Amino acid sequence: MITIESAIQDIKLATGVSIPVNLLLGVDTVERLDDQPYFAGVGQVEEASKWVITNNWDDFNEMAPSGYLAFGYAGHGVNSWAVCLQWKTSTGSGCLRLPCGGAFMGDKEVEQANSYLRDLAAFSKRCDSAGIALEVVEDMGEGRYRVFERGGEGVESNSSLIADSSRASRLNLLLADLALRATGSAVPDRRFSCRSNGLAEWQDENDEGSVLVFAVDARTSPEIHSSGCAEMLSTLHKFDEATCSDHALKLQEWASKANLGEIVWCPACFEIKD
Ligand SMILES: [Zn+2]
Repeated sequence: MITIESAIQDIKLATGVSIPVNLLLGVDTVERLDDQPYFAGVGQVEEASKWVITNNWDDFNEMAPSGYLAFGYAGHGVNSWAVCLQWKTSTGSGCLRLPCGGAFMGDKEVEQANSYLRDLAAFSKRCDSAGIALEVVEDMGEGRYRVFERGGEGVESNSSLIADSSRASRLNLLLADLALRATGSAVPDRRFSCRSNGLAEWQDENDEGSVLVFAVDARTSPEIHSSGCAEMLSTLHKFDEATCSDHALKLQEWASKANLGEIVWCPACFEIKD
């Protein structure tokens, strides 16, 4: 048996990536998989040998036993390297393969993997203490994040966060959506990237609607406009995303849950007449 600290250290020496201990289910000791650079929870070596090379995450979510833990790294020499981590509990799961080395990667990927794991560990702690289940897939550039109230409905986002410097804010937005759904408030109807055409199409079809434009890292104040506001269209480059709804007050409620900062109501769209 190997202590969890020495397993973490082993992986760090080989790859430069340090797996935060709070992602490792609180176990103290692990076992090594037959001379491979993988560790598994005690008594789970056989189970782990089924899953450590899989990328069939839906099967993993369905079939791996609760309490399952395996982590390590794949690749050697000039091949691409990846740090891998899989866990499954009664309330959540994680399947991570994070690129981190080999001939085509270097310090940047290692730093990226480390900062990703720190953000994920902090988010996972937040979910735990709020009683929220978290299902994570982050697999060599493909990502899927789901959060669930206990026994209830969830919300999900399908994009990789490994290279996204605003990932902590994006994860918090998921909790904001979940919190609103739990209170019975409607989650805003649609969310678009300000770089996509989706927003313009939504506005064409919803000329009575309202739009909240915001920066995911809150670097600038969010603004609420009515659909089709020319002022908004000319300042879209300041923002990352737009959330749309049939009612402006829903957007205000959502923005405050998402901690986006003080909202600016567009004076042209919401002119208060004396
Ligand atoms: Zn406006």
